[in-house]
Amino acid sequence: MPHVITQSCCSDASCVYACPVNCIHPTPDEPDFHTAEMLYIDPQECVDCGACVTACPVDAIRFDGSLAPNETLFAELNADFYRDGRDRPLLAPPVPALRVRRGQDLRVAIVGSGPAAMYAADEILTIPGARVRIYERLQTPFGLARFGVAPDHQRTRGVLRQFDRILADPRVELVLGTEVGVTITHDDLLASHHGVIYAVGASADRALDIPGADLAGVTSATQFAAWYNGHPDFADRRFDLSGSRAIVIGNGNVALDVARILTMNPDLLADTDIAPYALDALRDSRIEEVTVVGRRGLEQAAFTVPELIGLCATPGVDVVVADEQLGILPADDARAVALRGASRRDGNRRVVLDFLLSPTALSGTEPVRTMEFVRNELIPAADGSMRVKATGESHTKEAGLMLTSIGYRGRPVPGLPFDEATATVPNDAGRVIGARRAYVTGWIKRGARGFIGTNKYCAQETVRSLIDDYNSTG
Ligand code: SF4
Repeated sequence: MPHVITQSCCSDASCVYACPVNCIHPTPDEPDFHTAEMLYIDPQECVDCGACVTACPVDAIRFDGSLAPNETLFAELNADFYRDGRDRPLLAPPVPALRVRRGQDLRVAIVGSGPAAMYAADEILTIPGARVRIYERLQTPFGLARFGVAPDHQRTRGVLRQFDRILADPRVELVLGTEVGVTITHDDLLASHHGVIYAVGASADRALDIPGADLAGVTSATQFAAWYNGHPDFADRRFDLSGSRAIVIGNGNVALDVARILTMNPDLLADTDIAPYALDALRDSRIEEVTVVGRRGLEQAAFTVPELIGLCATPGVDVVVADEQLGILPADDARAVALRGASRRDGNRRVVLDFLLSPTALSGTEPVRTMEFVRNELIPAADGSMRVKATGESHTKEAGLMLTSIGYRGRPVPGLPFDEATATVPNDAGRVIGARRAYVTGWIKRGARGFIGTNKYCAQETVRSLIDDYNSTG
């Protein structure tokens, strides 16, 4: 029986290079790497050596025979990826080693300490003698890997161990409580480093632009997630969990995370990294149902299939989709199989996935507010995609807690140019355009998309640009 990649896959692709028969795809050099929701093992080619298991930083790879009942769907998901065959070389093309031509005294400053920053540091440390100084605004490192990953996703949080190992390298210095533009300037950093890499992420939420969106009781799912993960900026926040329903606008993976945390049995969170005050609040919560609303249909939903499978396998939580929406999917579609297999028991809390609705206004006073929606229909576009068109049919839903999860935006970085349209720093392969010896990686470079491990290849490109400049100009 082959090995199988499961839900916690972070797409960092360390397993790809560990595999002796190159049967894990897509590899980072393949075009679909950037759009795939996870990596997949070809069950026909796997020789069961187990090398990928130890290479994976998030414990995502399982021997087929040891899959838990709620993971068996992943065996199908892995096999499905290879259904139509796939040309591949015998080995994945290796990443060329970095070389510095002038001595070995490279000093690099990295601003931020989330996944993009840590992968950039890891890459620089492959150069003998190179040193890295990491500047973090908070008193705790690792950014979204610590404050964005749900506490019950313990395997994904295992990536923190990898980051701890990077920090333990004696050539790395971590400077906490330091913010560029407040306590230190870009010029200060340039004065003592050969280059500065900004890995500051996309820390602003896209705002809901409807009347009433600024009413008290409406907040973002990101802030709610930061609160239950103990982020110091949000530890004092209070969320009203006294109503029977919460609504989440947007249906990406963060939306599913907060819906799951709001509905699962708090006892299952007790042994996780959840903040104790949040666990106490969830124990007192009266929320029985979370409705997750998307403006497009089930087929176009923003959540990934692995996250949906995980949600459907949550004990004590029903996941409900209207029959007419579920019926659109082929019977053997992994999403349909997961949703049909989701538990339905009296006494369970519920996550309702609703589609083809756009919010138009919010009204009411605490503790219950009313969200107004317009029903959408899907119109095929010339490029083959489906566009959303409002039908004029209106709906309302009431809830005590309203969370928005409609994407992130980068914030301007003091001393660097900024593109308001893309909310990124303009760059060429990570080189900041119009700024000397400044580089970007992660979401501030490419926009808020991809998974934790996607940052590894983004960081490799940026560090290669920095080294090329260092070698050519010093
Ligand atoms: Fe490749 Fe071995 Fe993992 Fe199979 S078990 S995917 S052959 S590394």
